[in-house]
Amino acid sequence: MISLRKLAAATACLALLVAPTMAKDKVAKWRADSMDFAMHDASFSMYHEIGHMLVDAFELPVLGKEEDAVDALATIWLLTDDSDDDSWNALIDAADGWYYNAVKSTGLGIDDLSYSSDHSLDIQRAYAMVCMMVGAVPDVFGDTADNYNIGEDRQEECGYTFAQAYNSWQKLLQPHVVSKKRGAEISVVYEDAGDFEDYARALRKRKILEHAAELVSKQYVLPEPMTFRAKQCGEPNAFYYPGANEVVYCYEMADSMFSLYLYDILGWSGTAN
Ligand SMILES: [Zn+2]
Repeated sequence: MISLRKLAAATACLALLVAPTMAKDKVAKWRADSMDFAMHDASFSMYHEIGHMLVDAFELPVLGKEEDAVDALATIWLLTDDSDDDSWNALIDAADGWYYNAVKSTGLGIDDLSYSSDHSLDIQRAYAMVCMMVGAVPDVFGDTADNYNIGEDRQEECGYTFAQAYNSWQKLLQPHVVSKKRGAEISVVYEDAGDFEDYARALRKRKILEHAAELVSKQYVLPEPMTFRAKQCGEPNAFYYPGANEVVYCYEMADSMFSLYLYDILGWSGTAN
């Protein structure tokens, strides 16, 4: 299940046991890898919420669950973003994030699986993403799909799944594509991060919100100004607020994904701080 890059990190864990003098470097590397994971997930979360924003702003029809539809759109953006050479790694990490969140909740009981949620189950979101990825670029994501035990036949069918989602979104968004003049702009705001300053710094350094804002506003004519805001929310989440024309990314989400990677994927038993 674990991606090849992660396998290398996991091997590093074992190396630590036999080489205690290297512990400091290894811990620094794990922390850096965990931050990569959190930031990759942040990109996906932003594009997911931006999907909700476009559905609302352009009054787009949605067949089926909107949550699934905007997961597909977020995946398409990351698959096709030529201006970000890290976006394919972001996809692998975002899918792994859903997968390991699901693993964590396994055995907690039906109530915790949220069958009635408007979101598909985390495990379904992981597999749906990987299906789109291998459907779009089989040569690159074939290993990822193999790690997820997606059979050869299904991987091939995923080509149709991706093409249908891609063509459907293209058709819906076509009337809103910039032809001459850009539409309203998107402002990016970073609020005080308190104890989450490390994540705020990483988000700014990697221009996660700024890059998403530029990608959307250069492609589509937004009818009204929007704001992308990073802030403390009191919960690990991300939101789109229609009334306020605002997409919010919570610093707690980065903290939660950082911990998921460090403790649940790498299996570190120390303290993160
Ligand atoms: Zn959503």
